[in-house]
Amino acid sequence: MSELIDLTAAEAAERVRAGETAPAELFEAYRTRAAEDDLNAYTWVAEGAPESNGQAGTPLGGVPVAVKDLFCTEGVPSQSGSRILEGYRPPYTATVVAKLADAGAPLLGKTNQDEFAMGSSNENSGFGPVLNPWDRRRVPGGSSGGSAAAVAAGLAPWAIGTDTGGSIRQPAALCGIVGLKPTYGACSRYGMIAFASSLDQAGPLTRDVTDAALMLRHMIGHDGRDSTSLEFPGEIEVPRSEDLKGIKLGVPEDLTGAEGGVEPGVRESFDQTLALAERLGASIEPCRLPHAPHALSAYYLIAPAEASANLARFDGVRYGLRVDGDRDLVTMYSRTRKVGFGPEVKRRIMLGTYALSSGYYDAYYGTAQKVRTKISEDFRAAFERFDFIVTPTSPSTAFELGAKTDDPLAMYLNDFFTVPMSLAGIPAISIPSALSDGLPVGFQLAGPAFSESRLLDAAYALERAIGFDGSSARA
Ligand code: GLN
Repeated sequence: MSELIDLTAAEAAERVRAGETAPAELFEAYRTRAAEDDLNAYTWVAEGAPESNGQAGTPLGGVPVAVKDLFCTEGVPSQSGSRILEGYRPPYTATVVAKLADAGAPLLGKTNQDEFAMGSSNENSGFGPVLNPWDRRRVPGGSSGGSAAAVAAGLAPWAIGTDTGGSIRQPAALCGIVGLKPTYGACSRYGMIAFASSLDQAGPLTRDVTDAALMLRHMIGHDGRDSTSLEFPGEIEVPRSEDLKGIKLGVPEDLTGAEGGVEPGVRESFDQTLALAERLGASIEPCRLPHAPHALSAYYLIAPAEASANLARFDGVRYGLRVDGDRDLVTMYSRTRKVGFGPEVKRRIMLGTYALSSGYYDAYYGTAQKVRTKISEDFRAAFERFDFIVTPTSPSTAFELGAKTDDPLAMYLNDFFTVPMSLAGIPAISIPSALSDGLPVGFQLAGPAFSESRLLDAAYALERAIGFDGSSARA
């Protein structure tokens, strides 16, 4: 059984297809591990595989998937890490979860996350923090921390998460796995409990780049139930490149300069990876993204503004928690929201409501939207000269639990390198590049909209050359 756990998802699917492993055996191996989770990575674990699991010919071979709590799954708790949704079991399933199940990846469990995906450490969950399998005193990153920790620790073969400003890439980096945020619109948002609708995007968290490609292939596509979803031009191809010949990488000096506050170990790994890329044939040059350093400020207006509107629906009437209001409706609303929402969510609702209020709308929200456009234009200009933009994924490795909980601004700085791509709606991938003092470091590559296949190809070539070994986190 432990041998099964050491296979990547693609390898496990191959075994099932070759008739060497029964899908039920694979599901049970992971179900047992997930049920024994001591990282608080799961909020719910399936009791068994669906009967249809592993039907002959499914492309994903019955390899089960762990799903971030915020994806609605029919009849299964879907709480987005919030006490206000405690006990909520939706009557329908999110499109990407249904698509993966149809392709042969059944639901293994729901994973813990920061409440409504607001956070970078998973400490904002209403259901307790998740521990990092590399060092249990440290955070796994967030907000898809449960998904990242589960994959890194071998409690799931692969997982899905969502990324609004970095929540797939940053926990992937801190847990030593691969995380891909697709182009905005590539995957349907139908059934995702919304945080910031113009930014939220689902994507894979996997052990390697091949698994990410395989999974993404079965997530993309237009969905009539999400008006912002798009038909992906072409297929997601299996990555095969062994070198980076002819690839031009841009290093944005506006981001990687001193302001990012990058830890020495992260900087060292970044420089080593650039040297490796050069040996693989890539050319590396500095590039400009002049407005990108303002991305964080723009994001922390736009995301809370959208969140304040999206979260208005949680009022004790329709879903989850209701606190009695002594026969008064407004009292019921406010008591429910007071008890149900955690402090970070309340902070964002207040920030967002303020930024949208009349008299301030143009000064804050309007300005932030203009900055967002400038950032998109910066990327567009950069991609005329470069194939990909590269940065560290996160300025630091996994930090200790509690280290940043009292300082929201320090917490927000974790997103320095990931937020610009989210605002521009472009795809970006994080791959593990090294260990620094025993903790994983992530390397980020970003490309133009819909360049996922090329991005995965380049990441694959680098991954092979880096040879990162994540097996000790599964021990
Ligand atoms: N850390 C960022 C935030 O707190 C990003 C979260 C996300 O991508 N869901 O908003």
